[in-house]
Amino acid sequence: MSNEGVVEQSSAGLRELVKAGEEVIGYIYPHAPLELMLAHGLTPSLVRALPGVASGFEESLQTFACSYVRNLYNQRTNNQLPYLRALLFPSNTCDSLQNLTDIWRFRFPSDRVFRLSYPVSRYTNDDSGFIFLTQELKLLSKAIENILDRPFLESGYERAVSLIRDFRLDTQYLYSSRIVDPEVLSYAELARLVRQFYSTPLPVVASEIHDISVAIQESMESRGLSDSVLSVMTALQNRDFSSVKISRNDAKPRIIIIGGMIDPQAIASIINGIQGVTDSIITLDLLSFGFKSVFTPPVNEKGDPYEEMAKSILGAPGEPTQEGLTYRMNFLRDLVRAFDIDGIVICEQSFCDPDQFEAPSMEKAADKIGVRTVRIPIDPELSDRSRMEVRIQSFLESMSENEVM
Ligand code: SF4
Repeated sequence: MSNEGVVEQSSAGLRELVKAGEEVIGYIYPHAPLELMLAHGLTPSLVRALPGVASGFEESLQTFACSYVRNLYNQRTNNQLPYLRALLFPSNTCDSLQNLTDIWRFRFPSDRVFRLSYPVSRYTNDDSGFIFLTQELKLLSKAIENILDRPFLESGYERAVSLIRDFRLDTQYLYSSRIVDPEVLSYAELARLVRQFYSTPLPVVASEIHDISVAIQESMESRGLSDSVLSVMTALQNRDFSSVKISRNDAKPRIIIIGGMIDPQAIASIINGIQGVTDSIITLDLLSFGFKSVFTPPVNEKGDPYEEMAKSILGAPGEPTQEGLTYRMNFLRDLVRAFDIDGIVICEQSFCDPDQFEAPSMEKAADKIGVRTVRIPIDPELSDRSRMEVRIQSFLESMSENEVM
């Protein structure tokens, strides 16, 4: 794989937006309030780690910085980021990002850096997390208005709520269809569509996704699989798998990919790079840039905008910052059983503390229900690509010889 090509392709959306004269605000954390940024007349674009980014200024970061934030920082120091009107960083998610924000502000004082603090958990005995995040969103909105001279416009907010709701419902349908029949759409294509929207959340991109979703709905209907898809989608939205209807039609392994800030397209590329294997073995991912953001409940347009945005963000499924360990492991167990999963690939971003805390619990939860797991350390540069491919291949072979296409 040519890294240069991947860098160009991956940052194309962001560059195109800037070239087209959009006022772009880059965001780092997948659970950023996109509706709020759009309501202020800014176009939010996900700034993510990319392969092919040369290191150079890593010594500025603390030793605990993960490979993901090192990559982001190097993009800035290597001038690989286009001009952004501002950047939104999260606070209270992990030490690496907290540190990155501080260093970024210090090293690049002319960059406009906003910070949104997330509450530790939504599972408190009161509404304190929700009240806290609502206030944080109001403060962010005021700061954007004062510093960038961009007021919050009701009309922009309404358009944004509808745009992002449509994107979520369409991609939720695509995710659910793949669980019923992983051949219906390649995982790489689904990951590409999701990435494209988070990089360029424009109506034209949502409309391409909608057309694909409609075509797949028609195909599933004609094959009599609509009810199954809807049962899966409802189960994932409500986190209740009691009514899921799935029948397995072939002997291929059904794998889920678990992790945090891992790029779904990178995973698809690794799996498709293994000889004799395609990404149709991936039934589902539980990644922050995939499932966890796609299945975040859409904002309700009827209530107070800040409260509704806070509720939506706090409804993101499966994030360790928001849901307790027991709840997440029970969800994993129920999902593995309902979707007839054979194996779990646990991806860990190199030097990511949250991923490394999480992995042993996932192994234990899978072990209890007799599902195999493999742990794969990964960095954005895919510097150990061959070893990752070999480990996944051996894992697949250990599950069932001759069953993987
Ligand atoms: S990969 Fe892990 S340590 Fe790095 S920014 Fe994400 S959560 Fe933080």
